[in-house]
Amino acid sequence: MTVTVAPSPGFLDLTSAELAERMVADGLRPAHAGALWRVLHHQFETHLLAREDLEPPLKRWITAKLAGEFTHITPQIASHIPSADGLTQKLLLRLADGQEVETVVMSYTGRHTACISTQAGCAMGCVFCATGQMGFVRHLTPGEIVAQVLEAQRLLKGLGLPGLRNLVFMGMGEPLHNYDSVMQALRIITDPRSSRIGPSRITVSTVGVVPGIIRFAAEQQPYNLAVSLHAATDAERTALVPVNARWPLAELMEACRFYHSHTGKKIFFGWTLIAGRNDTPDVARQVAGLLRGLSAHVNLIPLNPTEKFDGCESADSAADGFQKVLADAGIPSTVRQRRGIDVAAGCGQLKAAKKRSQD
Ligand code: SF4
Repeated sequence: MTVTVAPSPGFLDLTSAELAERMVADGLRPAHAGALWRVLHHQFETHLLAREDLEPPLKRWITAKLAGEFTHITPQIASHIPSADGLTQKLLLRLADGQEVETVVMSYTGRHTACISTQAGCAMGCVFCATGQMGFVRHLTPGEIVAQVLEAQRLLKGLGLPGLRNLVFMGMGEPLHNYDSVMQALRIITDPRSSRIGPSRITVSTVGVVPGIIRFAAEQQPYNLAVSLHAATDAERTALVPVNARWPLAELMEACRFYHSHTGKKIFFGWTLIAGRNDTPDVARQVAGLLRGLSAHVNLIPLNPTEKFDGCESADSAADGFQKVLADAGIPSTVRQRRGIDVAAGCGQLKAAKKRSQD
C-alpha cells in the first residue's frame, strides 16, 4: 500500500471567517478577504496572480502566502470524458502529489449533481468496487474536496450550464473515515457567501462506519445521510463489505436508529443489486425487517461491473420484484438509473481503467 503525505494547506481549506481572520491579522481589510473569497468561490479562479482586478496589497499578500505556508489547490484535469448521451461527465483530477481522484457531474432534467471523492483510494475494501480493489492511499484535505466542487462548477460554467444543485459524497473513499476534512469542506461549500448549495441538497454516504454515524447524529449535521447496506445478513454483508466484520449489522442498525431518533431525519439506504445474490424477494423481506421503524428510502442501484468482481447486474424484473416487496412493507424505494457506463462512472472505475492501460 502506498501512503503519501497530504500537501500543505491551501486557501481552499479555510472558511470565509478563517480566511478573513488570517488576512486581518496580517493587516489587510475585511474587504480584501471578501474579494479573495469571491475570486475563489464565485469565479472559480485558478490563476490568482494573473488577476488584474485585485488590489496591490491583496496581491502582495497572496504572493507571500504562496511562497510560504499556503498553496492554491488547482487540480489538473488528467481526463475528462463525457458520456455518449452527454448527461454524465467524468473528471479524473490529478492532485499536487500526483494522486488522482474522480469527480462525476450528472445531469437530471436540467439539474446538475456532482459526486465527490473524499479519499485517494479507500480502506473499506468493498469487493465490487473499483476503488476498494485499489486499497487506501490517503485522506483528501478539505481544500482538495472543495476543489472538486469548484472544478465541477467550472465545467458547467464552461458549457454555459447552470451551477450545481446537489452534491453527493459517494465518490472514491469513505467520507466518515475522513470525517474532519469532510465536515470542514462542507462548512466551506455551504457557506452562504460561497454557494447556493444548501445542506439539504447534500448527501454524505457511508458504508457503515458506526462511530462516524453516531458523531454525525450527535453533532446534528444538517446534511442527508446515506448508508450503503447491500446485504441483509452478517455473513453475506461481510463477504461484500468487509468493514461489516468490525461493525456488524446489529450495531449499524442501532446507529441508524440513534441517528433517526436524534435528528428525526430519513436515511437513504443504498443497495447494489447483484443478480442472484442479493436481489431475491426473500432478501427484500429481510431488508424490510431490518428497516422496520426507521424513516427510510432505499435506492436500488444495478451493479456497475468491475474487473475483479464477477457479479452481474440484476435483471429489471428482479429489481421490480425487490421493489414490490419493499413497497408492500411500506418502504419507499427508487431503482436508480446506471449513469455513464460508457465513461466508467462507477466509483474508481476510470482510474482503474487508466491504470490497466498503463500496465
Ligand atoms: S464502495 Fe465506497 S466505501 Fe466501499 S470500497 Fe468503494 S469507495 Fe470505499
